[in-house]
Amino acid sequence: MTRAEIAEFFRRLHDATPQPETELEYVNEYTLLVAVVLSAQATDASVNLATRELFRTVNAPHAMLALGEEGLKRHIRTIGLFNTKAKNVISLSQALIERHGGEVPADFEALQKLPGVGRKTANVVMNCAFGAETFAVDTHVFRVANRTGLAPGKNPLEVETGLDKAVPPPFRRDAHHLLILHGRYVCKARLPECWRCIVADLCRYRPKTPAPGSQAAARALAAKRRRK
Ligand code: SF4
Repeated sequence: MTRAEIAEFFRRLHDATPQPETELEYVNEYTLLVAVVLSAQATDASVNLATRELFRTVNAPHAMLALGEEGLKRHIRTIGLFNTKAKNVISLSQALIERHGGEVPADFEALQKLPGVGRKTANVVMNCAFGAETFAVDTHVFRVANRTGLAPGKNPLEVETGLDKAVPPPFRRDAHHLLILHGRYVCKARLPECWRCIVADLCRYRPKTPAPGSQAAARALAAKRRRK
């Protein structure tokens, strides 16, 4: 995509959602960090279901240590990989107290050194908690960046680097959320809903998905059957 197309791409997404935010529920930087760690390979909805009650009383590292690993597991057992995640949350809470006085550091490198915190999590926390212009690449961002031609890459780091180069101001801070929401609700994994996509004319993906019930959809279905 050209620079002008990329600017137009984000202008339209931003006009449609002027204040995009994470769908994870949290009450402070610490609970955001915990929620993002819990969300690996899980949906935001499933994490919110588990943390809504938890974060009412446990919203700081010392409270998490008081709850303990087994206590935490009881809250999050509906989330995938909950055993490993509970262990990491306890370890990272301990590390926050030992290394950062119980605060979440506004520092990408320091975040990445916490147990269970990878590049994507550190980028999300820097963006959502501290307003940094970071580009966390999850499954939605990876897919949309590749399909559209916005920032193609073979792995998340290549896509992240491409986005960092391509996304212009004033969209840099919100780009991550705009791409996630577009991927989650329109440019879906199994079948992108191109017929109702507001950036379809800018996107390089071919062939575009036709509207269900349209003549184009009927032709595409017939062609698919002939190929079988
Ligand atoms: S046109 Fe289709 S593939 Fe391209 S961004 Fe929109 S939904 Fe995704």
